[in-house]
Amino acid sequence: MSDGVRRALLLVVSAPSGAGKSTLCDRLLADHFFMTRSISCTTRAPRGAEVDGRDYHFLSEPEFNRRVAEGLFLEHAVVHGNQYGTLRATVEEGLKAGNDVLMVIDVQGAASVRAAARASGGILGQSYVDIFISPPSLESLRDRLQARGEDAPEVIEQRLANAQGEMARAREYQHRIINDQLDQAYAELHAIIQAEHDRTPC
Ligand code: ADP
Ligand code: 5GP
Repeated sequence: MSDGVRRALLLVVSAPSGAGKSTLCDRLLADHFFMTRSISCTTRAPRGAEVDGRDYHFLSEPEFNRRVAEGLFLEHAVVHGNQYGTLRATVEEGLKAGNDVLMVIDVQGAASVRAAARASGGILGQSYVDIFISPPSLESLRDRLQARGEDAPEVIEQRLANAQGEMARAREYQHRIINDQLDQAYAELHAIIQAEHDRTPC
């Protein structure tokens, strides 16, 4: 960047369930000191070893709807039958502190934030970058979801059914990565972030 100042990024990452976004993003967060993950709210039940306030803010339907009515969400959407949303304050506070903020959200949420970023002359528009992560195939997606062993068979089927529609929207994203070999996919993700840090926002 011309003035030598590093651009803080609002990094929006989407992928079908099982494509490996948590694996890649956990590694990213461990490697990037100045990156914070936006912790989403959801009405789905905690899974495996998930912890409230660390992995998600787990809310009841009335609690979630109250936050919607109060206008607290930057975006929210129904995904796989549950509500998910990103609190506006989480993102704005992170960016104002000069951190990169990582949002791992679905294609509907990404479309909402992209539209808000395009309409904004402010920090949201200047920092917005989006990346779509695909699995090498739908078969590998099924294998990964089964191997992860955290979802019931009917939940896996629902996620696979949604995956095709999600993958059809990959072209809406500025960057796309196929997560076949994990190390290679991570290297691509890292390279995109480096390049975006150095780029002057339009
Ligand atoms: P997501 O967060 O997109 O639902 P996860 O990161 O939980 O996906 O990955 C799903 C499963 O696939 C996990 O068990 C993970 O260890 C595995 N996995 C992730 N990336 C790869 C890869 N490149 N090759 C093989 N398995 C992978
Ligand atoms: P999971 O239940 O597997 O954690 O997430 C299911 C889907 O919801 C994933 O595609 C995930 O990226 C998405 N998701 C998680 N948090 C949010 C959020 O705050 N907003 C939106 N729109 N989607 C989210």
